[in-house]
Amino acid sequence: MKRREALLTGLAALAARAARAESLPFRLTEVAPGIHVRQGAMAEATPENADAIANTGCIIGDSAIAVVDPGGSLTDGERLLAAIRALSDRPIRYVVQTHFHPDHCFGAAAFLPDGPVFVGHARMPGAIAARGEYYRQRLADSLGEAQAGRPVVPTFLVAVESSFDLGNRVLDLRAHPTAHTDNDLTLFDRRTATLWAGDLLFVDRVPSIDGSLLGWLRVLGDLEAVPAARAVPGHGPPSVPWPAGAAAEERYLRVLEREIRDLQARGGTIEEAAATVGVEERDNWLLFDDYNGRNVTAAFAELEWD
Ligand SMILES: [Zn+2]
Repeated sequence: MKRREALLTGLAALAARAARAESLPFRLTEVAPGIHVRQGAMAEATPENADAIANTGCIIGDSAIAVVDPGGSLTDGERLLAAIRALSDRPIRYVVQTHFHPDHCFGAAAFLPDGPVFVGHARMPGAIAARGEYYRQRLADSLGEAQAGRPVVPTFLVAVESSFDLGNRVLDLRAHPTAHTDNDLTLFDRRTATLWAGDLLFVDRVPSIDGSLLGWLRVLGDLEAVPAARAVPGHGPPSVPWPAGAAAEERYLRVLEREIRDLQARGGTIEEAAATVGVEERDNWLLFDDYNGRNVTAAFAELEWD
C-alpha cells in the first residue's frame, strides 16, 4: 500500500473508532437525591469504550456541583460534562479525584473551562509526577492523542480530613493511608448518608492492589464503620448497600492474606503463590485472570516483610 493510502486507511479506522465510542450510551443513574453515577464498562480500556470503565458522576447541591472522578479519557470527561449539563446549570465548583488511576482521572481537562477547584489526596500530586506521563502515553497509544486527555494536578489537597459545602450539602472528604493506592480519597454526603468509595470498593470486578493488601483491609474496616446507607463503588453497580456491599471484596482480600501466609509458612515460592492463591475466588469476579496473579505477586512481597 502506498504511504498516503495507508495514512488515509489509518485515519478512517480512527474515525470509525471515535464514532463507535461516541455511540456508546452514556447514562447517569440517580442513586440518592442529587447523586448521579455513570456505571463504567466491565472491561479494560479500548478505543471503543474510550476508557469509560470506572464509575464517575456528580453530586448536586443547592448552589453548586461537585464532579467525582472526571472520567477515563478526554472523551469520557466531555461526555460526563454534557450529561451533567443536561441535569443542571449550577456551577461546577469542585472536581474530586478519588485517586490517580487513569480510568478515574484522564477526563479532568474537560472541566478546566468551568474553572473548578481540583481536589485530591495530599499524595496525588506526587503520584502524577511519578506516573502521569507513563499513563498518558499508554492511554494515547491505545485511544489516540486527541482522545486520551491528561492529568490535572489537584490544588485542594486533603492530608487527613476536610469538607466543603455545595449549598445545604456538606461533603466530608477523607484521605486514607496506603490501601488500593497510596492516594485514596473518599467522600461522604451527609444529606443522604452516601459514601463515595472510589476504588477502595470493587464490586463484581476483581479488586486490583496497587498499594497494600494489609493497608486495604485496615482501611476497609474503617470504612465499614462509616454510618452510610449506601456506597458508590469505583467499579461495579452505581450503588450498593453499606456495609454489606463490601463483603465480597473483604472476603477476597482475606483469602489472599490467609493463603499467602500459609504458603510462606511452609516455604512456598512466589511462582507457586501466583499459580494457586485465590483460585477458588475465580468464578466470583470479572477480569479475575487479568489481575489475580498480579495481586498475589504484590501481596507476596508485602507479606514476606510483614
Ligand atoms: Zn484504581
